[in-house]
Amino acid sequence: MMTQLLIKNGCVYDPLNKINGENVSVAIKDGKIVEESQINPAEAKVIDATDKTVMPGGVDIHTHICGYAINAGRLLRPEDGHSGLEPRTSLRRSGSGFSVPSTFVTGYRYSILGYTTLCEPAMPPLLARHTHEELNDTPMVDTVAFTLLGNNWTVAQYLKTGEYQKCAAFIAWMLRATKGYSIKIVNPGGVEAWAWRSNVKDLSDPVPYFNITPAELLHGLSIVNEMLRLPHSIHVHTNQLGVPGNYELTLGTFETTKDAKINSIKGTRKQSIHVTHAQFSAYGGDSWNNFTSKADAIAKYVNDHPNVTIDLGQVIPGETTTMTADGPLEYNLRGLNHLKWINQGIELETGGGLVPFVYSRLNPVNSVQWTVGLELALLIQNPFQVYLTTDHPNAGPFIRYPRIISWLMSEQARNSQLKRLHRLTNKRSIIGTIDREYSLFEIATVTRAGQAVALGMSDTKGHLGVGADADLAIYDLDPNNLAPDNIEKAFSHAAYTIKDGVIVVKNGEIVQVTQGKRSWVNPQINDNLEKTMLRDIRRTFARFYTVTMANFPVQDMYVPLSNEIQIDATHIS
Ligand SMILES: [Zn+2]
Repeated sequence: MMTQLLIKNGCVYDPLNKINGENVSVAIKDGKIVEESQINPAEAKVIDATDKTVMPGGVDIHTHICGYAINAGRLLRPEDGHSGLEPRTSLRRSGSGFSVPSTFVTGYRYSILGYTTLCEPAMPPLLARHTHEELNDTPMVDTVAFTLLGNNWTVAQYLKTGEYQKCAAFIAWMLRATKGYSIKIVNPGGVEAWAWRSNVKDLSDPVPYFNITPAELLHGLSIVNEMLRLPHSIHVHTNQLGVPGNYELTLGTFETTKDAKINSIKGTRKQSIHVTHAQFSAYGGDSWNNFTSKADAIAKYVNDHPNVTIDLGQVIPGETTTMTADGPLEYNLRGLNHLKWINQGIELETGGGLVPFVYSRLNPVNSVQWTVGLELALLIQNPFQVYLTTDHPNAGPFIRYPRIISWLMSEQARNSQLKRLHRLTNKRSIIGTIDREYSLFEIATVTRAGQAVALGMSDTKGHLGVGADADLAIYDLDPNNLAPDNIEKAFSHAAYTIKDGVIVVKNGEIVQVTQGKRSWVNPQINDNLEKTMLRDIRRTFARFYTVTMANFPVQDMYVPLSNEIQIDATHIS
């Protein structure tokens, strides 16, 4: 199965190895990138990439593809399932869906875009088995899942009493039990408050009963994250997300982690906090009537603080399905559009909600939302601090990434979209005054290299140096002919996608179906600390959970292709 490949004559964009459009050969053997001298020219298959763009495989730091929320979306929206029907072939399973596609086609579609690694960002611990089951049915890509921990009762209790060591031991246990990759925080404290029919209004608003504030939760979890030396930083969906005037709260959120000493097992990431789909957290005004973009203020902060990274959550005009663990947000959204909705609490841990949504070009609010994500991308100077996402499917489905790439690379493409939006857009945003155009080198950074670094995966992902996994994409895009239409077309259908050294996509079609690995972290805690913590949580399980503690951890069989990352955290005591 393992072949030797040699990719010649391509224009290679590999930011982590500082290769900017140069004609260099990429040699592949046994699923890894190797020196060209390591392969046998008589046996290697040669791909001639003349006039084509070569990049590492795409990495998506935040995309809702599997588990409770997306599955509830499929149930809620059979009309979405009726679109995007794809028949079975001799190679592929059938599937359907536009904003909430079924599992198999999700893998195929990402692979056709040239993506090879995906992060499912919202795994409720109690529903972790279901998340892993669906990830197992998502072919073509390596995956990780982030464990929702920002509204967990035990976390709140430990942080309130200042028991950081026990909190670290508990989170180590949770990541092991759920086979999760990092700490996800959604509306810290607000989702728990929602169980009491309330929400938190700012960073100093205490959570009912626990009396801990969102700022204390964020600060505490960032400290614990670094005590455990996790590969990724805390991954944060801010409070008051999607609410006019929330940008100041977002600036305050960045500040909560500024004294966390970054300490990753992989030693590559530079951020102490990643704020996800920041577009939804960069709003000015105090109502939908005077709503404006404050992307400039967020970008200025990011430019001054290398310890912060964000991803976009770029809005795509059109129909989609919103879904988040932020229950109160979805409840409010349903009040705006009066469509069908789901809201749910998940005992002791988190919550969730879903509402279908249409981002209308004729609506001034939706039009300004479109500008906010692009402004963030264009005003943040260092592309290693900002990543391309749509918070799939919240601001739009991932199949639209090529369109966003064309907007980033072409002022002309942006302006022609801007003309089709509401006439107030230009008054409330500065997008029309920005002439920056991304280079292919910068595109390679915001879609793969930067994301791999932020995730602590850049030893094997996001680059084409010797020793990296042989995950790459070749696009039929001549860097000397970057017309906007060419850009969108080329990034929509990879000429080749190569996964672990196997050609899986050719000319935009799946030619081989493969199964990716699941990475998860397993921090080892010293025995005494672990015992003390377990005594506490045994009581919690017995008193409050509807499942027994023995039935809580995900068994190994749920992760058949497992990449366990062991971390020695026995220094915590
Ligand atoms: Zn999300």
